[in-house]
Amino acid sequence: MKNETKNCQNCKKDFVIEQEDFNFYEKIKVPPPTFCPECRMIRKMIWRNTRSLYKRSCGLCEKSLISMYSDKDEAPVYCSECWNGGHWDQLKNSKDYNFSKSFFEQLRKLFKMNPRFYAYKLGNLINSEFTNFSKDNKNTYLAYSVTDSENVIYSEIIDYSNNSLDCYAVNKVDGCYYNVDCESNYNTHYAIESNNCIDSYFIYNCINCNNCFLSSNLRNQQYYFNNKKLSKEEYFRKLKEYKLETYFGIEKAKKEFDSFIVKKTIHKFAFIYASQNVSGDHIHNARNIKRCFDTNNSENISYSMRVIGIKDSYDIVGVGFNAEIIYESMAATANGFKDFFCFITIEGCQECEYCLILKNCSNCFGCVGLINAQYCILNKQYSKEEYFEMVEKIKQHMMDLPYVDSKGRVYKYGEFFPYDMCPFGYNETNAHDFFPLKKEEALEKGYFWRDREKRDYQITINSSDLPDSILEISDDIFNKVIGCPNNGNQDFQCTSAYRIVLNELQFYRQKKLPLPRYCPNCRHYQRLKYRNPMKLWHRKCMKEGCNNEFETSYAPERPEIVYCERCYQQEVY
Ligand SMILES: [Zn+2]
Ligand SMILES: [Zn+2]
Ligand SMILES: [Zn+2]
Ligand SMILES: [Zn+2]
Repeated sequence: MKNETKNCQNCKKDFVIEQEDFNFYEKIKVPPPTFCPECRMIRKMIWRNTRSLYKRSCGLCEKSLISMYSDKDEAPVYCSECWNGGHWDQLKNSKDYNFSKSFFEQLRKLFKMNPRFYAYKLGNLINSEFTNFSKDNKNTYLAYSVTDSENVIYSEIIDYSNNSLDCYAVNKVDGCYYNVDCESNYNTHYAIESNNCIDSYFIYNCINCNNCFLSSNLRNQQYYFNNKKLSKEEYFRKLKEYKLETYFGIEKAKKEFDSFIVKKTIHKFAFIYASQNVSGDHIHNARNIKRCFDTNNSENISYSMRVIGIKDSYDIVGVGFNAEIIYESMAATANGFKDFFCFITIEGCQECEYCLILKNCSNCFGCVGLINAQYCILNKQYSKEEYFEMVEKIKQHMMDLPYVDSKGRVYKYGEFFPYDMCPFGYNETNAHDFFPLKKEEALEKGYFWRDREKRDYQITINSSDLPDSILEISDDIFNKVIGCPNNGNQDFQCTSAYRIVLNELQFYRQKKLPLPRYCPNCRHYQRLKYRNPMKLWHRKCMKEGCNNEFETSYAPERPEIVYCERCYQQEVY
């Protein structure tokens, strides 16, 4: 094994390229990266704006729509019907390649003017206008990265789930509130890293439990409180004491729970299930995975996040549903093959490079917004022979005349799009979720930042003046504009004010949970605190006498007790 240490041209820290990485780059004929794995992940995450939505109208039929692109962007956006219908001259903005200018300058110009599909919405979406990165859903509202789900509100990364609110990264849950990294729970609220649990509250890493409260690391248990078994009667008496129908009661329990997790709970080094030879966190049913996060049903993947059902790929973000050999790409789906350096390639795009927003295209280079196209460069049609000849020339030209951004970063063939091509503010994207920055820091690094626009409304009640108990809330709550205590704080994309919608109120009443006291965006950032960062540290098991070592997302200075898999299994009940 021959590893090489390089210096990242973005963060200036050293990073290692391993022999097996070199093998991959050689196989797909790309030069090795010049950014470290973390900077590579961030540069794709800044293209993943899941949560910021804008009122626009379709550039063709003029129908109003909710788009992920701000109306400050010059490029027109097209609605689903117009886009998928393909009834416009797709090659009308085509350009001859200009060898006196850098490739990225020319591509940026095309991206800035060419029509775009208005959001990342796929399949059949019923009554789900306020959503994005969404596929086959019904009645979703302010919910993002949602697949095959129904009645989901204020949530993100939701698969095959129903009737749930304020969740993050859940799969197959139903009737749940505030679940983070959970699977197959029913009627369970404030659950973290727990699976197959029913009728429980404030649980951490519990599996197959019902009626458990303020507990962690339980397996197949019932009527537990503070990790102690109670009789059924005692359990319900305890639960009643906490008055979970009130905001005061929930906050008290939440405080105790947070301290219980940090001080009294043994933590497993990573959440890895049914997998072989993997490093990273939140990996299920996968093989040969290196430094990945949120990766399921996949094999041979390195340096990636949010990956479902993919093979033989490196450096991908938000890629799902059967694709192979994808490299340095964001949002690729359904039968993609050999696509490199792309943003949104859907429905079987093959052998495309440096393309943005393509559907069912093959052999395209530097194209924007095409459907069913082949052998195009900068949206211009070439013959098959001309195409391959030109692509080789352009790749050489990218080496000879690379694009250099305002911070001196050099973009040759082999780099993802330069930062200054991205249409989203750093604060609008997944990058800010997992690598949060202050506005000044983001600008200093050369990222774009988008200040929230002031909206015209009058706050009619401050959230601290809301009645404490859900039982005291009357129907006139729909008329209220509630002030969020974070008062527009940009760290959390705070909207300053929020409303309660009908389905939401019905949910709180049915579950006997109090109204939330922060806006949906602030709640999103509060939930993310239950997740570790997308970084790994090499550490040793903290159980006395055990010498096992592992890669973990728990930083060494953190207060939690972290065990290896074997020692952890000995601790759970
Ligand atoms: Zn770096
Ligand atoms: Zn339209
Ligand atoms: Zn807020
Ligand atoms: Zn151990």
